[in-house]
Amino acid sequence: KSKQNGKNRYHFYSRDMQADALERMRIETELRVALAQDAFVLEYQPIVDADSGELVGAEALIRWLHPQRGMVAPGAFIPVAEDSGLIVPIGAWVLREASRQWHEWDMRGLAPLRLTVNVSGVQFRDAGLPALLASVLDEYRVDSGCLMLEICESVMVDGNSAAEARMREIKDQGVGYAIDDFGTGFSSLSCLKRFPVDIVKIDRSFIHDCPQDRSDAHLVEAIIAMTHSLGLKVVAEGVETEAQLAFLRALGCDYLQGFLIGKPQRAGEFEALMRRRRMLLPPIDGAPQEAA
Ligand code: C2E
Ligand code: MG
Ligand code: MG
Ligand code: MG
Repeated sequence: KSKQNGKNRYHFYSRDMQADALERMRIETELRVALAQDAFVLEYQPIVDADSGELVGAEALIRWLHPQRGMVAPGAFIPVAEDSGLIVPIGAWVLREASRQWHEWDMRGLAPLRLTVNVSGVQFRDAGLPALLASVLDEYRVDSGCLMLEICESVMVDGNSAAEARMREIKDQGVGYAIDDFGTGFSSLSCLKRFPVDIVKIDRSFIHDCPQDRSDAHLVEAIIAMTHSLGLKVVAEGVETEAQLAFLRALGCDYLQGFLIGKPQRAGEFEALMRRRRMLLPPIDGAPQEAA
């Protein structure tokens, strides 16, 4: 009987896996076309200084303009791009486009603005990355201090000394690092100390239930304190409510990003925002606030 169940399960998973494999192949084929046809676009999500509420930068986020399915979010294609290796040319497009946009804004007097760009582990380990960066920084005369790469914790963990050498090679060009989705991986304090990291971005899953969830609130408090003790800055991702804002400000979080401050938007809208006002939140009051 159990054998029978096992057999049924086998068929079930097998068909499921086949459908999944076909779907992935279809996405991969379409991604190749998208690359050739320049069917990607970047959106920019504002990042503000927590105390002053002023715009300090933006995270560039890729979207795929699919001919039938409309705008496709990265979660639906980045994993396929990573598995197929297509993330290398797609990631190169992202770095080039973000640099081009930075240059355009700089020419119009809208700099200095810090842009952060997501770089996946596969792309980070690609041998061509340092040269690509050097080339786009030079081509668009980007102030390298204004470009920051967002990498996830796993880059520091599995890459060990090769990853450390790669990080330093890029850091020598003046480009900084933010550790994305911090807290969801397995990096340790010693990683943050050993690798040339500038910023830690607390994953939005920890911010979501703050401040009412006591254990998440304590975790966020601990991450901020630890990050500061290492001399690094911290960004809270996914800030959606006034209560989260007050909580994060009371803890001395350095920068904020989330729908409360602004959604990811196309370059044109983002530029309009920059021209309208650089202060996206009212500044923190002078009065002492109580930590939740
Ligand atoms: P991420 O780097 O952690 O980016 C933040 C994600 O959170 C974005 O989703 C953003 O739209 C979303 N977000 C921001 N604020 C809020 C909020 O207040 N509430 C909620 N619910 N969500 C918020 P998006 O654009 O769908 O990107 C998802 C992930 O895809 C990114 O997570 C990143 O890991 C990856 N990704 C995006 N662009 C690129 C890229 O150019 N290259 C690579 N390799 N990965 C990318
Ligand atoms: Mg990111
Ligand atoms: Mg993130
Ligand atoms: Mg995240």
